[in-house]
Amino acid sequence: MNRSAILRWRLDKVPAAVWTALAAAALAIAAAFAVDPGAAVWMLIAIGACFLAWRAFRETGRTVIAARDDEIELVGLAELTPLLEALPDPALLVDENGRIAGSNAAARRQMRFEMRGQYLSSILRQPDVLEAANAAIRSGETRSVEYETSTQVERHTRCYVAPMTWGHERAAMLVFHDQTARFSTERMRADFLANASHELRTPLASLTLLIETIAGPARENAEERDRFLKMMQVQADRMRRLIEDLLSLSRIELDEHVPPSDRADLSQVARESIDALSGVAQEKGVAIKLQLPDGSVPVVGERFQLTQVIQNLVDNAIKYTPRGGSVIVEVGASGDRDDVITKAGRRWPDAGRLALLAPVAAANRSYAYVRVEDAGPGVERRFLPRLGERFFRVEREMGDEKGGTGLGLAIVKHVVNRHRGGLLVESQPGKGSAFAAYVELAEQD
Ligand code: ADP
Repeated sequence: MNRSAILRWRLDKVPAAVWTALAAAALAIAAAFAVDPGAAVWMLIAIGACFLAWRAFRETGRTVIAARDDEIELVGLAELTPLLEALPDPALLVDENGRIAGSNAAARRQMRFEMRGQYLSSILRQPDVLEAANAAIRSGETRSVEYETSTQVERHTRCYVAPMTWGHERAAMLVFHDQTARFSTERMRADFLANASHELRTPLASLTLLIETIAGPARENAEERDRFLKMMQVQADRMRRLIEDLLSLSRIELDEHVPPSDRADLSQVARESIDALSGVAQEKGVAIKLQLPDGSVPVVGERFQLTQVIQNLVDNAIKYTPRGGSVIVEVGASGDRDDVITKAGRRWPDAGRLALLAPVAAANRSYAYVRVEDAGPGVERRFLPRLGERFFRVEREMGDEKGGTGLGLAIVKHVVNRHRGGLLVESQPGKGSAFAAYVELAEQD
């Protein structure tokens, strides 16, 4: 006979057995009474004692460990396990002895334990949580405890501890809520604010200094005054650009979770974007070559935002291409995600390349791309992953500021992400850089 057969204790079957036993006892007493009435009284007392003993045993039986075929089953507190399983967060039930009396799959997975009966202190080394569990059992206190763990990744958890009573048993119920995402969002927001104010403070400090100089030592010197006024203009422009970019970024982020439903012709958007930048390119002595396929390239996207993407990429390309050089802007349609990555992002065999953003692979989805190629200095391979990070500028890392805001590519990345598209970069120091943005191709009308 196996262990489970011996230990299985079905309390719901007991009453039938009890009735049978009582009937047998009544028959035995009647027979005994016929033979010897004195012995029958003793027999009655003995049977009564047996019944009381069985009841007492049944009470303790509720906490006695029984077994199922595959796992040990605790009757009593463990009856609450289905309730725990219904919770999405890891949850534990801890008995008066500090042992795990019940748990859900989420808790077993996260805390890496399999069996009930283990001490809470052996699977969780958080003194505040252990104390809260103890306080819940002993004095019925409800607490919430926040703690941080950092094994492989930093994780913030809030543990809610509440007292529970089940029959005669007291226990503590622990629910663990992961707060990591909230913490990192808060940290990102704080970092962003600190960076934004730092970026704005720099031109503001220059402006203040220039005003003081014009009002003081340069007051009487018209030539000096003009020179300083020009410098003021540069700083004011920088502040304006920063504020514009910051506003753009926050506007884009606001509806980043809502994909666009409009249609736009990517070729036309590219043409318009380049027209808007032709003055800048001319002034810089850079030629822009536009390569468009025959016919329109309809995409699912918001025209204004797609213009922003192309303008930011072309603006960078012009900025980094030396006088006399040229920038190539190419629009094309392609097949699925892998196809567009090959077509738009793998052209230079010796270049470093990276997908700065990639959509989830989806069947039946085709893409259209715009690739902007320049003849600039290129970006070193080690900096590629940081492109698109807010305020990141290669020049600053190299101690050679050029006055960019470091927000242009972040804007591109967010817009493309809203469009559920991708962003690729290919760059080779000495040859140039190529950025390609791709978005979903719409059906031809
Ligand atoms: P900004 O150009 O305003 O500084 P971006 O976000 O557009 O900001 O670009 C971030 C950084 O990426 C730039 O400061 C520059 O170091 C690098 N970068 C972007 N585009 C190019 C390019 N075409 N060639 C070389 N470096 C580039």
